[in-house]
Order: sequence, then structure tokens, then C-alpha cells
Amino acid sequence: EITPPAHFLRQIVQADLQSGKHTRIVTRFPPEPNGYLHIGHAKSICLNFGLAREFGGVCHLRFDDTNPAKEEQEYIDAIKQDVQWLGFQWDGEVRYASDYFDQLYAWAVELIKAGKAYVCDLSPEEAREYRGNLTQPGRNSPFRDRSVEENLDLFERMRAGEFPDGARALRAKIDMAAPNMNLRDPILYRIRHAHHHQTGDKWCIYPSYDFTHGQSDAIEGITHSICTLEFEDHRPLYEWFLDNLPVPAKPRQYEFARLNLNYTVTSKRKLKLLVDEGHVDGWDDPRMSTISGFRRRGYTPAAIREFCERIGVTRSDAVVDMGMLEFCIRDDLDNNAPRAMCVLRPLKVTITNYPEGQVEQLSLPRHPKQDMGERILPFSREIYIDRDDYMVDPPKGYKRLVPGGEVRLRGSYVIRADEAITDAEGNIVELLCSYDPDTLGKNPEGRKVKGVIHWVPGAESVECEVRLYDRLFTESNPDKTEEGGSFLDNINPDSLVVLTGCRAEPSLASATPEDRFQFEREGYFCADSKDSRPGNLVFNRTVTLRDSWGQ
Ligand code: ATP
Ligand code: MG
Ligand code: MG
Repeated sequence: EITPPAHFLRQIVQADLQSGKHTRIVTRFPPEPNGYLHIGHAKSICLNFGLAREFGGVCHLRFDDTNPAKEEQEYIDAIKQDVQWLGFQWDGEVRYASDYFDQLYAWAVELIKAGKAYVCDLSPEEAREYRGNLTQPGRNSPFRDRSVEENLDLFERMRAGEFPDGARALRAKIDMAAPNMNLRDPILYRIRHAHHHQTGDKWCIYPSYDFTHGQSDAIEGITHSICTLEFEDHRPLYEWFLDNLPVPAKPRQYEFARLNLNYTVTSKRKLKLLVDEGHVDGWDDPRMSTISGFRRRGYTPAAIREFCERIGVTRSDAVVDMGMLEFCIRDDLDNNAPRAMCVLRPLKVTITNYPEGQVEQLSLPRHPKQDMGERILPFSREIYIDRDDYMVDPPKGYKRLVPGGEVRLRGSYVIRADEAITDAEGNIVELLCSYDPDTLGKNPEGRKVKGVIHWVPGAESVECEVRLYDRLFTESNPDKTEEGGSFLDNINPDSLVVLTGCRAEPSLASATPEDRFQFEREGYFCADSKDSRPGNLVFNRTVTLRDSWGQ
């Protein structure tokens, strides 16, 4: 195994362990349960859980659940499943930021008592106006100098539900002229009369992300709090809370660049829009950049982990090519997926010189390199090949079947096309071929046959549906639109092509959901987890055999 490159976070952890600053590292993955996880989250999961595993530490799964209006139990369940599917296990019980609401409230009261927080009655619009901007310092709120007693009273009444949503907020008293906007008296608590999936109706005020995150890290003894770069400007505030509260530990925040992947979107808000507007078949649609989508598409956890390792961890934003992810899944499936044959656009072939009623049981390896045993393919007078493997006027270099030409059937005989039968409109409906009985497992006498095509038995093959997936967007950057447009304008209308009446070799009849295969010459496929069952097989194309995008 190759030692992974020492990215900067690895180096920091290594140094902290070597210097004895920490004897064991504790990381956390802190999703907000407001949607399904996407490939960007996979990077964060691999990083947080991966570092803990690599250095003998632990990683927590903590739901950052301070915004009840957008959160749901369904998302919590899906997130837990995705983390485990990726191959990671959190330390102990799942944690929730809401577990700490009592402690956070008590700390807010301490800040008030210390004269470091106040209740502000400015409306959200007024507050924005008072805040100033990057070139202009803010102005102090007229409520900034309320007495401690008045603040304590108002805050308690906020909690008791006396005021409507948005009427008041609790703010830290820091510096309205600070160049860092996050330090201009940030909000600690908002009034929100909303039912919470964990705490029910206990609270009608909810702490802000900033007031919650660092303290939750401190409570859990997190040593390295790793987040994406957009939180860099929040770090001084993160530290302000830790410096001004009697927290049990002092975690440190480190930032890294988010993962952006071309031809897709990695934002829960946009993914939710695709679901809500019916552009896709749910969060786990195989075209989605969600972990559950990739899973349903046939991706493996190992391929996603390998991808996350390969792209590395840096502090500069970049867009990663989808081809890189596809490379990782091809590599994995090439090594590990059994081979099978499936004819996507069947054309009936009758081998006229093959004895009527005779059947040979041909045995083919399930994998060319790995020992996965054999599969049996009955060969008889009637078989199916793909329509595209016969052409009357072939382009140069065509190595498949042409009138009067020969081709080898994979794992079987060489056949020659003698005659095409057409219907009234001139469409080819059947091929009459003859076979050379002396070509099973050997080269034909006195001539070279270059092409090899796949096939399935006529009677014994099973009908199936095949879904060919392509990229969901036609633009490398889906957000690039005409003025006033939206990323939805760039949806690829051909991102799903459904083929019915396909024919799969008999060994595929027992495929169970999520079983993965290489369909020879066609690509990698998996049995669909929602719709496929014995007797009604549905296969999803995971990825083509080669990178054919744009060709
Ligand atoms: P979104 O914008 O999709 O809603 P988010 O950052 O708000 O993403 P969270 O649920 O808060 O989503 O994310 C949980 C963790 O995953 C955070 O630590 C966040 O920084 C990280 N994360 C989210 N998106 C990415 C990404 N594209 N690349 C790397 N890490 C990410
Ligand atoms: Mg977030
Ligand atoms: Mg978000």
C-alpha cells in the first residue's frame, strides 16, 4: 500500500501528537440535518473519520441542529446510514448540538451577567443597517447599554415565549467597528416558535451556529475542529466564545477547501430544489451528487474513499473533474465486479447450421483475473446480439458483423452473417447466420477473425430494463447561466435513457439489489435498489468502460 501524502492537516495532527499537546485526537463530523449528504460531505467525512482512524483517535457524529424549521428526522436517518455505508463508525452515541441547549443557555446568561451580551430589539432589517459593511464601521445598537438586570429579565422572557419570532435577539457585545463583520455584536439567540425534532416544544429560542459550534466542540473535547474555508472569518468569534466562557477545553478550528465537482452541484439547497421540483427521482436518484445517489448508481464506498484521498486536502478552492471520480469507480469495478453479458438492443440471430434442439452448456469465468468461479451459458440455435453489432454499410475499422463477414461470439463460436430478414419497412428483424463448429476455444483454420461481440442465449436469457445515466448537467459549471437564469436551465435532457426489453444472460436472473457487474463491452452496472427484483430486473449504468464524454 502507498503511504498517502502528508497534507497539512495530517502534519498538524502528527505534530500535536509528537509534541504531546494531545495524547489522542478527537474530531467530529457536524452535518446539519437539512438534506442528504453529497460528495462534498464525503470529503469531510473521510477527512474527519480518516484522521481519527489513522492516528488512533475517535470521531464524533454530531448533528448541528440549531435550525428546526429546515431539519427533519428523515435526514438524520439518511446521514447516519451514509456515514456507515462509507465505512466509518462514530464514537459512542450520535450527538446533537441540541443536547447542549441547557448548557448554552446557562453560558448565555453568564455572558449577560459579565456585561458581554445584551438583548437587542432592532428588527432584522434595522440590525443589518446598523451593522455597516466591509468599508463602513457599524453603529452601536440603541439597546446595547441595557442594564444586566433588564437583559436577564428580557432573555428569560424570550425563553418563556412572551415575544413573537424576530421581535428580539440576544447579541454578544464585542465591537461594532471590528473589520471582521462576524465580531460586530453577533447574534447568540433568536426567537423561533418552532417544534424541534429532538427537543420538541421545550425551546422557542435557538442558539446561532456560531454560539453553538465551538462550545459543542469544547464540551465534547474535540481537539481538531475541521471545517471548510468559508468559516475562516468565523474563527476569531469561535475563539472569543472559548476565551470568554468557562469551557472545559479549548478546541482549535482548522479550515480546508470545499470539494467542488464539475457537471454537478454540491449544495443541499440546490439538490433539494431538484428533488422538490421533480427533476430527479428523489434524493437517491442515481444522477444526484448525493452519497445515496452514488450508491444507487453503483458506486462503491472504496471508490469514493479513494477519490477523497486522491484529491487531497488544501486551502485553495478548485473544481475537481468528474472524470477523476469516474476513474476511481472504474478502477475498483474493473478489479472487483464479476463479468456478465447483457444485450441492450436485442437482435435475434438464428444459427441455421446448428442442430435443432441441441444445447451446449458453455462455461465462462466470472472474472478474467480474480478467482470468482464460472458461470454457465447455454448455447443453441437461437441467440441475441446487439443491433449495433451488425451493419450493412460499416464505417472504416468496424470489427463487428457485416453481411458475409465473421465475428467471434464471446466465449463461444465464430459465426458468419448469411442473410438479414427485414420487415415491411425495411427494418432488420432477424439475422440468419452459420457457425463454424471447429472454433470453440480455438482459432478458425486458415483465416483471421478479429471482432468479438457479446451475446445471450435466446430462450434462457432474461428480459430486463436498463437505465443509462449520464451527467445531470450539460455545463461544466451548472451555475453558469444567461442573466437571470438558474442552474436548472442547464439540466441535461438526456441524462436518463431507459431501455426496455433488454436481454440478460441467465446468471443475472438472481441479481439482488446493489449487485454490481461489468456488462461486457457496455460498462459497469448495478441492480437498482428500489425497482429491481427477480422477475423484474432493472440495471443502472454506473459508468461506461472508458471515458467517452465529449467524444
Ligand atoms: P451545503 O452548502 O450543501 O448545505 P453545508 O456546509 O451547509 O453544505 P453541513 O451539513 O453544515 O453542510 O456540512 C457538514 C460538514 O461538511 C461541514 O463541516 C462542512 O464544512 C462540510 N462540507 C460541506 N460541504 C462540503 C464540501 N463541498 N466539501 C467539503 N466539505 C464540505
Ligand atoms: Mg453548515
Ligand atoms: Mg447549508
